[in-house]
Amino acid sequence: MIDRQSPEFLEVVDLYRRAPLLELGRLADAERYRHHPEDVVTYIIDRNINYTNVCVADCKFCAFYRRPKHDEGYVLPFEKIGEKIDECRAIGGVQILLQGGHNPYIPFEWYLELMRYIKRHHPIHIHGFSPSEVVFFSERFGLSVAEVIRELKAAGLDSIPGGGGEILVDAVRERVAKKKAQTDEWLGVQEEAHRQGMKTSVTMMYGLGESDEDRIEHLFRVREVQRRTAGFTAFICWPLQPDGTEMADQPKTDAVTYLRTLAISRIVLANIPNLQSSWVTMGLKVGQVALRFGANDFGSLMMEENVVSAAGTTYRATLREMERAITDAGYRVRRRRQDYTLIDEPPPAVAAA
Ligand code: SF4
Repeated sequence: MIDRQSPEFLEVVDLYRRAPLLELGRLADAERYRHHPEDVVTYIIDRNINYTNVCVADCKFCAFYRRPKHDEGYVLPFEKIGEKIDECRAIGGVQILLQGGHNPYIPFEWYLELMRYIKRHHPIHIHGFSPSEVVFFSERFGLSVAEVIRELKAAGLDSIPGGGGEILVDAVRERVAKKKAQTDEWLGVQEEAHRQGMKTSVTMMYGLGESDEDRIEHLFRVREVQRRTAGFTAFICWPLQPDGTEMADQPKTDAVTYLRTLAISRIVLANIPNLQSSWVTMGLKVGQVALRFGANDFGSLMMEENVVSAAGTTYRATLREMERAITDAGYRVRRRRQDYTLIDEPPPAVAAA
């Protein structure tokens, strides 16, 4: 339990609300340089593969999913997934981000077979199955979370992404995503994955009508898990993209809110090494400024981003534009892998277009 009346909690909320913007940025930048003393900004080339859009979770903020039996529902065949991986590797991609809806028609063996198929025929790092999906599998297939992770890992899963975190406060989740993993379950998957030797990332999607205190509680909960496991490699935050969702009347948050939220995250999450700039949702310009508000990583040159783009707000860039944005902001660019180790070889020429 997080004590919302503790002096530290109250102080952080006050800083988030009231500190002058540039002062908040300065504090976050100092924390960033404590972790990464060099003027280097990293990024990864990967591909988001949404293996199915069929989902029974009915999250109010989601424009991507289709209910079972909907004409536009799909499950990608293995061969299609294999083709997408080959295209990703051809431009220097080093991982796939494999996520999907909570599809009640897919058996567990399909997921295991998919892992084996990818490793056998299209080997690449598989960053897949958000904690919400893992909880769905556990409930649907009558397995414990530990068993689900163990079996997926044995079949080829390399790491777990932090998707579906939204705001880790049950009162908020109950309102916007009550059919999927609640806070303890979501964090429990992360902790179990860490226990089994996997590194994972963690996210926060804000702007769901939550309070400032809810956002800070989210950060405190994440920090608490990290103190026990040290298994999170990175934190990423971005605002709700409400267009086309049941939450379309929810006011959009602005760039200043993004920068303040990123900065306070960098300050609170002093035990997480990397924070990503979310330029895909905020645009390259704000993405550059984010590098002075705590971010040391430019996330991904993503070949596909179906979930955010389904809500209409997504920015795209070529590799050259993305690298230029980093160098123009005053940093050296380095390509990386999922675990943040650096890659020396340049990407294939085709990716430089
Ligand atoms: S966010 Fe994920 S779990 Fe929620 S409705 Fe969309 S696809 Fe389903």
